[in-house]
Amino acid sequence: MKLSKMHLKTLREVPNEAEISSHILLLRTGMIRKLVSGVYGFMPLGWRSIKKIENIIREEMDAKGGQEIHMSAVQPAELWEESGRWYAYGPELWRLKDRNGRDFCLGPTHEEIFTDIVRNDISSYRQLPMNLYQIQTKYRDEARPRFGLMRSREFIMKDAYSFDRDEAGLDVSYNEMYDAYDKIFARCGLKCRPVEADSGAIGGSNSHEFTAISEVGESEIAYCEKCNMAATTERAKCVDAPASNEEMQPMEDVLTPDTKTIEDVANFLGLEQSRTIKALLFVTYDNEGKENGYVAAFVRGDRELNMTKLINAFDIPEHAIEFADEAKMAAATGCVGGFTGPVGLHDCKLVVDSELVGLRNLVAGANRENYHTKNVNYGRDYEGHIVADLKVLKEGDSCPVCGAPVKHARGIEVGQVFKLGTKYSESMGATYKDENQKEQLIVMGCYGIGVTRTLAAVVEQHHDENGIIWPMSVAPYHVIITLINPDDEAQAKVADDLYKELSKAGVEVLLDDRKERPGVKFKDADLLGIPVRITVGKLAADGQVEYKLRRDADKEVLTAEEALSKAIAIVNEEK
Ligand SMILES: [Zn+2]
Repeated sequence: MKLSKMHLKTLREVPNEAEISSHILLLRTGMIRKLVSGVYGFMPLGWRSIKKIENIIREEMDAKGGQEIHMSAVQPAELWEESGRWYAYGPELWRLKDRNGRDFCLGPTHEEIFTDIVRNDISSYRQLPMNLYQIQTKYRDEARPRFGLMRSREFIMKDAYSFDRDEAGLDVSYNEMYDAYDKIFARCGLKCRPVEADSGAIGGSNSHEFTAISEVGESEIAYCEKCNMAATTERAKCVDAPASNEEMQPMEDVLTPDTKTIEDVANFLGLEQSRTIKALLFVTYDNEGKENGYVAAFVRGDRELNMTKLINAFDIPEHAIEFADEAKMAAATGCVGGFTGPVGLHDCKLVVDSELVGLRNLVAGANRENYHTKNVNYGRDYEGHIVADLKVLKEGDSCPVCGAPVKHARGIEVGQVFKLGTKYSESMGATYKDENQKEQLIVMGCYGIGVTRTLAAVVEQHHDENGIIWPMSVAPYHVIITLINPDDEAQAKVADDLYKELSKAGVEVLLDDRKERPGVKFKDADLLGIPVRITVGKLAADGQVEYKLRRDADKEVLTAEEALSKAIAIVNEEK
């Protein structure tokens, strides 16, 4: 492709709305274009890279026996009502009505559609196992779309669904997909860490997230360098502090004026924060969005409440619980903002972190203005309606597997695999007949890759202050020939010959034949991040060119023939 003919508009300035490198660089290179908040289109260079990522995914999915299909983004509400997710998915589900008032959504995922296909088409064990996938546009009505392709409302996703006879079959399918994902992300040039994850609104028992390590990622992961433990902090199990063998002391209310935070109370009483109980107050909602109860959650004072674990303990959707209005809750339950403790609360659900059960003589709010209670003990003084691990595993806490101190890192979730089990086949009636003509539920898994997010993650991991540094495999073009003076006959001829020879060898090559200053061309070449640059300038008269890799600082002067064979070799090796 000749750059003079290509639709390309690069930007010198950093667009206002963009904060992170991938967003800035994808806009500056003109690869993506914003339509409205969280909705982007792809221009020629951006679309080429997207197609490369898609093709890598296709090859690895097909290698595992996946069959590609393509379903509509528009999905009827009835299927989502059957699975129970029309309500459970909440406000992120992009809903719409047709002219007759019938409800639809723009699919954020396709479990219902694929389950519907197999319940209609699969009848016998002989048809299993099966893996169907698609690469398709998805929608999620994000409250705060941000970071460009990282959290957008429209995005391209590969979603695959496996259908097996039993759990053992699902294990095989799941491991195959896990293996395919390792290969896909490695081929895209991403450093990825698979971590145990929560299954969230998708459901199911077991899940791994593939996290591209990056400081700007929104996933926080905890990992252990001593053993293989790695999990999102939402999911990571915590080790309870050992039970105390202190004698239980009598409860005693003490005046603790103006001590609304755990830090205040601990300082005032001269105690470690780990000797206190922290209260967090919530309200829950029913299917119609009406308030249906209050929740008081308790963790040790120095711990942080893990919302995902709290939501899982209740088995309710994320949008069905939020922080309570303290004044309203006080009237109903007897809690007192800043001085809430578990003893004497009424008309609300007490959810207690498992660690508190074994600890003794802690300080908690007295449910009286300016008072706390000393020597509060689980079992004697209060009990929980639910007792569960509700804590966040913090950096330095003990690894739940081996006990060594855990580390934290941030990453971008580029893929996730789920063992769904029979969640959807049960609610939607997807069955097959076994050898004995007995009806059995189909056992499912589902496997997603954010294609557009993967593109952003690649840029996050591969750039410098001058622009993108594409890995060969997903670069929009392999080689850029920077022709310094298109009006110089010798230069034009060398550039043109190289262009033709490279193209003939199957190398994707851009020829910068624009009538621009050399400085502009070099800046654009660095910004666009094409892996190999061949500069054709004054030396062309002697048959020489300058050869440079975008990722290296060094350039070398070579004959045009040498540059040609060197470029072909590296492209074939790395593409
Ligand atoms: Zn460990």
